[in-house]
Parts: sequence; C-alpha cells; structure tokens
Amino acid sequence: MANTSELLGLAGRHILKNYKQPQIVMTRGEGCYLWDTEGKRYLDLYAGIAVCALGHCHPSIVQAITAQASRLGHIANLYYNDRQIELASELARRTGLDRVFFCNSGAEANEGALKLARRYHYARGDADRTGVIATWSSFHGRTMGAVGMTGKKAYWEGFGQRLPDISHVAYGDLEAMRRRANDRTAAIFIEPVQGEGGVLPAPSGYLAGLRALCDEIGALLVVDEIQTGVGRSGRFLAVQHDDVLPDVVTLAKGLAGGVPIGCFVAREKYADALPPGTHGSTFGGNPFAAAVSLALLETLDRDGVLDHVTRTSKWFLSRLAAMAEKHADIAVGARGLGLLCGLELREGIDPRMVLERMRDRGVLIATAGERVLRFAPPLIVTESELTEGLTALDQVLSELPRPPKA
Ligand SMILES: *Cc1c(COP(=O)(O)O)cnc(C)c1O
Repeated sequence: MANTSELLGLAGRHILKNYKQPQIVMTRGEGCYLWDTEGKRYLDLYAGIAVCALGHCHPSIVQAITAQASRLGHIANLYYNDRQIELASELARRTGLDRVFFCNSGAEANEGALKLARRYHYARGDADRTGVIATWSSFHGRTMGAVGMTGKKAYWEGFGQRLPDISHVAYGDLEAMRRRANDRTAAIFIEPVQGEGGVLPAPSGYLAGLRALCDEIGALLVVDEIQTGVGRSGRFLAVQHDDVLPDVVTLAKGLAGGVPIGCFVAREKYADALPPGTHGSTFGGNPFAAAVSLALLETLDRDGVLDHVTRTSKWFLSRLAAMAEKHADIAVGARGLGLLCGLELREGIDPRMVLERMRDRGVLIATAGERVLRFAPPLIVTESELTEGLTALDQVLSELPRPPKA
C-alpha cells in the first residue's frame, strides 16, 4: 500500500482540483472518530457533511451492506425489487406523503422535483407555468437545474445560461415571496433551515405561510430536506416541527448513512406527473442502497435516536451560546435545529481559520456561509464527545488573533 506522501503525490497529479483538501488522507473510521494514514485520530463533528447519521462503520450499516451485497445489488428499474418497495413504504409513512422516486444524490432529487413540478402543470394544459422561486443563499445542489435554484451567483458563473424561469427572494421574507409568486409559478423550493447558507432556521410561521401561499396560487411547495431530513432536526422531517405538509420533500445525505442515495417523496396528487419515459435513474432505488437505508431507519427507531438528537441539541445549543458569550469579541451567537448547529462569528473573523486550528487539535467541523462554524455531528454523538469538541473550540477561540478595533 502507498504511504502518505506517495498518496498525496498521486492526489496532486490525478484528483481534479475542484476541492481544496488539506494534506491529510483519511483511511479509517469508527463511531464519531476518523483516523488518517499517519494514525492521527480526529473527532468528527461534521459527519461527511451531515451524511454519516450513525457515525462511521456502525454495526447495523455494516451488517446491512454485507447481507445485501451477498443477496442482490442492482437490477435497475426494469423490475421492482423488494428492498426498494419496503423503503418507499417506510418513507411514505414517515413523511406523511405517498409516492417515492429514488436517485443517488441531493442534486438529482431536486432536479427530479423540479421536473415533476413543471411536468405536472404541463399535463394539466398549463405549459407556461414553469416558474420556480427559491431563496437567496439557499443551496440545492450542483447540477445545472439544481445550481440554477441555488441562491448564490458564484455557483452559476461561467456555466452558460442559467436554467430559465428561476428567481430568488430573501429567505424568511414571506411578503417578498407573496409579491413574486403568481399564476405562472410552478413551485417554491425551500430549505427548512438554510444549511450551506449559514445554518439559518426558518422564522416562525414562514413555512406555514409558504404552504398557504402555494395552496392559494396552485404551486407546489417543495421542501429541500436533504440536510435537515432523516432525523437531523429531532423529527423525521424538519417541517414536522411546524406541522407543514409539503407537496414534495427531497432527501439524500443521511438517508443511507453514507451509501449514496437520494429521493423525492410526493403527494398522491402527483403520482402520474412523470409518466413512463419522462424521467428515470439507472442506479436509483437499487436494492443495495435501499437495504442500507432500511437498516438506518430501523436503527433510528430501535435506539431512540430522534429523542437523543432532541435532548443533545438542547444541551449543545446552550453550551454553544455560552461559548459565544464567553468569546463575545469573536462570536455573535449560536443557532440551529436538532444536530445542525451554527456558531456565527463576528465580521473579519474567518471561520476557515477556526476550522483549521480545530483540525490541528484533532476536531473536525465544517463552515457554512461566510461567517458560520457548522456542527453536524453523527446523530449518535454523546455529550462527552461534544464536550471534547467544545473544549477544543474554547481553546482555539481563546488563542485566535482578535480583529483590529474599528
Ligand atoms: C447537500 C445538499 C444538496 C445537494 O446534495 P448532493 O448530494 O451534494 O447533490 C442539496 N440541498 C441541500 C439542502 C443540501 O444540503
């Protein structure tokens, strides 16, 4: 096996330069910890970007992968497979919706939902109803359709004309959405908490207001729960905190605990909106990914993980808020929902600098937006593991150079 410097040499030559990885190569994981090729251990408080809901190499996931790999892996959607059917019915039950389309990533789930919305109106003789309204600083993925809905111009630039009929309004501003929406609006796309945009939970009443608006104008309310779904908020869906039933919800990230999978779940009303031949995915809903997702859902129930998330979130957010107060010259405050938590830093403090110093101390976090530290640990993280992270954060914030006084 190649050593660390050989691997880094090969990476430098052969991995596309669209990311900016540090000179570390991860090789092993267990629970909330990762190890690099030098044997250094890291506490993982970002979980592969809110993906590894049960941490790394959880026995339930390993067992499901092994069992399904030796039974049936892939057949494409020319035939039903048992695992996909079981998973669809589980997802329908847990979301309160009816019909599932499976794919392999978040962006694909949003692409599919966008196509569903437009095709639904088209089939009803309303071919001009193609408008999509999303929000500034939203994140919906990187494919051409999804990136067009993503509310950050830097992500569109240089890729040719953006998909037409997509516009953006300020997140949380119901009046702005009301002014923009009309009888040409096919769908509104919304995150219940803007994840990448800075861990911004929707203001109270916002999602219910969007629900009412969509009912009024006949547009689909598509809720992007790719980051917030599958228990991360403490409920199966984050919108369930607000008692809102979307027309379509998109899921991916945590759905199979690290095995690639995505899906959208729609109301019965949309069952025929994408007739045979109009949409599909070769890998989507393969028995392998579906079996792993089923095992994850079962484990969430068996181990009471959602209640654990709710309890742990309350404790962690109060500790983060205390941290912000202690380092008030650096931090503005804490916010979040469930185990998607952010610490906002003051202007002039680069969150990446904090992230790097945390990593030097063996704790991995992510950032969100320009000024926010993002914590999205495995949902099974313990208070003692989080305390380890908070201790490192306290030390890093204490030692951080203060911004020059204005
Ligand atoms: C990560 C994310 C996506 C994109 O998912 P990919 O699997 O990277 O395509 C879309 N929407 C939200 C809210 C996300 O957090």
